[in-house]
Amino acid sequence: MSYQVLARKWRPRTFKEMAGQGHVLKTLVNALDKERLHHAYLFTGTRGVGKTTIARILARCLNCEEGVSSEPCGKCSACTEIEEGRFIDLIEVDAASRTKVEDTRELLDNVQYAPTRGRYKIYLIDEVHMLSGHSFNALLKTLEEPPPHVKFLLATTDPQKLPVTVLSRCLQFNLKNLSPEIIKDHLQFILEQENIPFEEEALWLIGRAARGSVRDALTLLDQAISFSDGKITDSEIASFLGTINQSIIYELVDALIADDAQALLKSIEHTAEQAPDFVALLEALISYLHRLAIAQVVPEGLDNSQGDKKQLLEHARNMPAENVQLYYQIALKGREDISLAVEERAGIEMILLRMLAFTPHSPAKSPVEQVREVAEEASGEAAGQTENAAVSGDEKKKPLETIKVQEKAPAKAEATKVQHPPEPPQLQDESGAQSKAADPGISKALPADTQLALDTLREEQWISLFYGLNLKGITRSIAANCLMTAVDGKNIELTLDENQQAVFNESQQEKIAAAFAEYFATDINLRIEPGELDPEAETPAAYRARKQLERQKRAEETFRNDENVKTLVERFEGSILSDSIEPLTPEDY
Ligand SMILES: [Zn+2]
Repeated sequence: MSYQVLARKWRPRTFKEMAGQGHVLKTLVNALDKERLHHAYLFTGTRGVGKTTIARILARCLNCEEGVSSEPCGKCSACTEIEEGRFIDLIEVDAASRTKVEDTRELLDNVQYAPTRGRYKIYLIDEVHMLSGHSFNALLKTLEEPPPHVKFLLATTDPQKLPVTVLSRCLQFNLKNLSPEIIKDHLQFILEQENIPFEEEALWLIGRAARGSVRDALTLLDQAISFSDGKITDSEIASFLGTINQSIIYELVDALIADDAQALLKSIEHTAEQAPDFVALLEALISYLHRLAIAQVVPEGLDNSQGDKKQLLEHARNMPAENVQLYYQIALKGREDISLAVEERAGIEMILLRMLAFTPHSPAKSPVEQVREVAEEASGEAAGQTENAAVSGDEKKKPLETIKVQEKAPAKAEATKVQHPPEPPQLQDESGAQSKAADPGISKALPADTQLALDTLREEQWISLFYGLNLKGITRSIAANCLMTAVDGKNIELTLDENQQAVFNESQQEKIAAAFAEYFATDINLRIEPGELDPEAETPAAYRARKQLERQKRAEETFRNDENVKTLVERFEGSILSDSIEPLTPEDY
């Protein structure tokens, strides 16, 4: 038997064999079984989603000799002739190749004659939007007063281009792009029938690459079969498609979570051996981070449409939500700039290192030190750009807005193990005298490293307690938006800022309760209720925001008062852009 391409061989013959489009099929099946038939149907959707396939099945349903039904027999001469494309009363027109008005006229001239053999005379016009204006008029005239024995099945990828007069006379069905999961299942079914061995991940790759089109997926599968040596493997498909093997993305995200610059660079090195498209790699990372953020907010709404739900959830649990946002932003910005890099590989390395450099770290190791260490190991190019751009005499040639100033943090901040927020870093002014701690009120409320006792716990101690709780990611951010509104022995009540309740669910309530239990080493009866917060009270999130603002102000002051900066501004008649000043001391609350 000669080889038949899969798309033709596995073209569905009944609605039941169709992949996806359940919403459209259900309506059609109901209409057919109740014989509530319209005279014109319009199928819209992108290429390869099944528009003409549905239309051909519908043609069989309408003309099967066994009677109109949603399940044509498939054996009668009408059914077989339609399948073989030689049924005299099914007139197929590809408008993309037939736009002259005479053609359509000639076609529609015969409309009034009864069908030769079938029950209905069926006009299947593909890419109907390509008809010329005159042809549309001819079509419209027929649609206005259709003879009872005629059905129009129209298909188009571009319904916007159809005149409203035509649209309004058709029953319209919008076919959806198929999800990678539906395509993967369909391919799997076919390969099992064909007895061709495969790796499931390979089918996911094709499913994603086909971008919603079954026809494209089957064409890719055909090529993959002729390309592969018996078995269809994911590494072969990845190199054949030129797509990014998703496992590299998982490696990179693992390395980001572990804060491991070496692993990050090693992944890129391995990838580089396959001469990949680094821009595509970056885009794959961006879209994965996007899905990660969604997974953190609505984990229960997650489907397995990309085949990596388990992996995604694990990453979502381990990467703080603010880091996801940060990495996404850096990657997005990096995509704009990557074309400017001398080499794309260097560009993507810089983007990944930048992610680590800006990740909030413990005070023991500042981001700058971290990146410098990595950059020295990695590549000479990286080292130059991540040097701390402190103000010094030989940097006068740099534009003013790129100069950053390091806040002078006291050495003790590094030595103290910070679990509770320490007092704000104290600044030395020019005379060498230490300024006072910025906010004695807060310091009083936050005894450093003090274990709070349950029997003396008061609502006002919430911020201090919050910093002692072992919480991560989105759960931490939810707790940060709470106030402790009632304490009565082991009964503790938190009120969650009602504006934040959309992200709150039961599993987070359990995690927070567990953190309380761990902290007090006893079971706590914790209630979290969304509600309006006392505007006078400060949540940990508000506290943090206020501290950040103060820190920014201090950085700006330090910068403006710096003698070198003053000299620069005077000598070059410069001005300082406040937005460009960033505090370089690590965040410590
Ligand atoms: Zn039949």
